[in-house]
Amino acid sequence: MVLAGEDRNDRLCLRVLLEDLCPEMRGRLVEIGDSVRLHQATDANLQARAETLARKVRARAARESADVACVFVHEDLDRIDGEDVPAVRERVQKALGSALGNAHYALAVSEVEAWLLLFPEALTALVSAWSLPSRYRGRDTGRIPDPKRILTEEVSGTGRRYRESDAPGVLEHAARLDLLPRPVGRNRSFDRLRADVAECCAHHL
Ligand SMILES: [Zn+2]
Repeated sequence: MVLAGEDRNDRLCLRVLLEDLCPEMRGRLVEIGDSVRLHQATDANLQARAETLARKVRARAARESADVACVFVHEDLDRIDGEDVPAVRERVQKALGSALGNAHYALAVSEVEAWLLLFPEALTALVSAWSLPSRYRGRDTGRIPDPKRILTEEVSGTGRRYRESDAPGVLEHAARLDLLPRPVGRNRSFDRLRADVAECCAHHL
């Protein structure tokens, strides 16, 4: 199993989610740090970028004398959810499928921090002074602009500030508290990831 993405913290977040939602992946995930830049690629560039990633995946598998069962590729959309987002995701998913075979495009909308807003209890479990204001609870967090700002300015307030390296810890608490199946609110990209992990766990491992 390969986990590819640009940002180390985001890869760690994906790892926590994958290992909790599919325990069979524990001990089998290998990470590749790569600036994938897929959803903004032109049609001409997209397939080439997917093929480049596929070459890196195969080289890594050869070095470790391992077979690749499946690849998760993470990227942030960096804008809020909208009508066109399923098509944006599907276009990249197709390119990855044709380059890699079994592959899942984990497109976080708008970014991984939007997923953290689904787990107010986990935010407080990580730092007891942190609290998600009620106006952000039960919402579609894919449509809330700038979730990172909400975490740094409104959740952590005047005390210990949220940093990007806190994101995996928040999700670890969400996993430990068995909150991942029960998000407060919704986010299409998070639901999609859960469906992809379930499919992968059942058919690709
Ligand atoms: Zn899979």
